[in-house]
Amino acid sequence: MRAVAVNYTTRRVEERETPVPVPALPGEVLLRVVETGVCGTDRELAAFAFGAPPPGADYLILGHEAVAEVADPGPGPHRFRKGDLVTPTIRRPCAAGCATCRRHRADLCLTLQYRERGITGLHGFFTEFAVEHQDNLVAVPPRLAGVAVLAEPLSVVEKALDRALAVREEAPRTALILGAGPVGLLTALACRQRGIVSSLHSLEPASHPRARLAERCGARYLERLEGVFDLVIEATGSAAAAFAGIGRLGPLGVCVVLGPGVGTGPLSFLDFVVRNQSVVGSVNASPTSFARAVDDLGRFDPDVLARMITRVPFADYPASFAPAAAESIKRVHVIH
Ligand SMILES: [Zn+2]
Ligand SMILES: [Zn+2]
Repeated sequence: MRAVAVNYTTRRVEERETPVPVPALPGEVLLRVVETGVCGTDRELAAFAFGAPPPGADYLILGHEAVAEVADPGPGPHRFRKGDLVTPTIRRPCAAGCATCRRHRADLCLTLQYRERGITGLHGFFTEFAVEHQDNLVAVPPRLAGVAVLAEPLSVVEKALDRALAVREEAPRTALILGAGPVGLLTALACRQRGIVSSLHSLEPASHPRARLAERCGARYLERLEGVFDLVIEATGSAAAAFAGIGRLGPLGVCVVLGPGVGTGPLSFLDFVVRNQSVVGSVNASPTSFARAVDDLGRFDPDVLARMITRVPFADYPASFAPAAAESIKRVHVIH
């Protein structure tokens, strides 16, 4: 079967032939991958910024945003039937079995020795078939087949908002979203769903299609950063943006940092103290967040979701790892 992988010997992204995996252990199922989304994490993996192949391999099959069909329910026990549509969660527990991994929250792993499909230590889903344990699969209703590839990025949003609400002492009424990528736009939809009035700031001019899409997601688009907000959700890849966002927090404000890059900068602890503010980091998502993401995809405006997705053939993978790929909001490779 065909797979798109990063090769750690040649330092390139390549298409390669790999054997079709076989479900062997109890609970494992064979998945026929329907489509795979590509994001900034994949582009960082392709640039060898981080990530690791499975032990003993010199390549990593990419793909951590996927929709798949159960091709073979495997040896059982069976939670899924042949033909069921699913989306896989990404993170798998650490070998040490830390307290959070034991309670199915590998997204909160204490040892940081977790593995992630398509990112670190485990092959991903940018391939025709994959084997996964049924406990790591979230059911997708057939009517959401066309948008379920967004479940993984939305699961990140769901966890981020949960983290913010867990810290905040009053129900938030306003949110500032930084970044008009898939995570930023999905955050705007999730805020609207929760009755939180959102503003979205990004570098594009207000006439840009992304800015207009942000407004269709329910956010007021800000060309210039202004105002004071109950929540700030950073989804930019820029530490400078995260610091600017922290500066926009009101009393009891909570800033969730999702992808600030590696930069550092000054913080005013006095502001945090006087205004009871918090900065929270969040990564990955729990199985519950994935399930909630699938539910929310069923509630969001399907036309707006469709506008985020650019479908391309499997063979177009080189373009997904080129800098110009970022012009599409979400490139999705059709596998089957
Ligand atoms: Zn991703
Ligand atoms: Zn752990």
